[in-house]
Amino acid sequence: MKGLSLEGRVALITGAASGIGFAVARKLGLNGAKIGLVDNRPEKVEEATSKLVAEGIEVEPVVADVSKADQMEAATEQVAKRFGRIDIVHANAGINGVWARIEDITPEEFDETIAVNLRGSFLTIKFAVPFLKRQGGVVLLTSSVNGTRIFSNSGATPYSCSKAGQIAMAKMLAVELGQSGIRVNAICPGYFPSDIHATTKHKSEKPIRARPHYPDGARPLNSESTPEQVGDLALFLVSDMAKHITGEVVYIDAGISLVIG
Ligand code: NAD
Repeated sequence: MKGLSLEGRVALITGAASGIGFAVARKLGLNGAKIGLVDNRPEKVEEATSKLVAEGIEVEPVVADVSKADQMEAATEQVAKRFGRIDIVHANAGINGVWARIEDITPEEFDETIAVNLRGSFLTIKFAVPFLKRQGGVVLLTSSVNGTRIFSNSGATPYSCSKAGQIAMAKMLAVELGQSGIRVNAICPGYFPSDIHATTKHKSEKPIRARPHYPDGARPLNSESTPEQVGDLALFLVSDMAKHITGEVVYIDAGISLVIG
């Protein structure tokens, strides 16, 4: 469909070497965008780039840590230099970090989750905005149901705070950047299969607090999650089909966060 075409546009996507970010890169790329693929795992960057290039997508691979200002400034310059412009930026890279009781979370562990998820979003957007301002553009952030609608994953305090902060960032920037022709929206996925779950550092064998039990049938939609579904949502939000939408938060979780909180 013409309104979904991203022909001629350039998208810089962080955390694009796997999971949700990779699915978004693929979907945007298959719809005509050139992709600045940013991630901090070199071997995954190489693998993801090969897969996308094999599908005919133009990719500039960049190994960078989103929490480091100098690396993100250089990453942005590298993508802009290769393709001559940046139209879309997706602050998606994230970690679950340490999930534990507050007494057991060290200040350094708290800082690490905030540095990647929240400071990383800030740096990603900060360095891309001067390029977006040249012709207008779109910013997307991957937040989460955790910290915005779900508060029963006890122990996920640093993660949830970082994800709540991303929503404030999206709304502040939607207001700030609207007159520059830049839209800013956030997506909140529920559970999606990806690499992130295996890297969660739990300090307690058992759940810190029992999750509320809901009877069978409480699930609103019988739909299995796949990262490609987030790709479809991202494509809509960055396309001209969504040109009247800014400062919004879109949940993609089959309605589950409406029945568990
Ligand atoms: P993933 O682990 O598959 O992908 C995240 C990517 O980010 C990885 O490739 C990783 O290498 C990269 N990354 C991590 N730290 C980085 C850093 N410092 N600099 C650059 N890249 C870095 O996980 P995912 O599930 O696809 O996560 C993507 C986003 O979606 C995250 O922000 C996550 O919080 C959010 N999210 C995921 C789920 C889920 O269930 N999968 C749910 C809600 C929100």
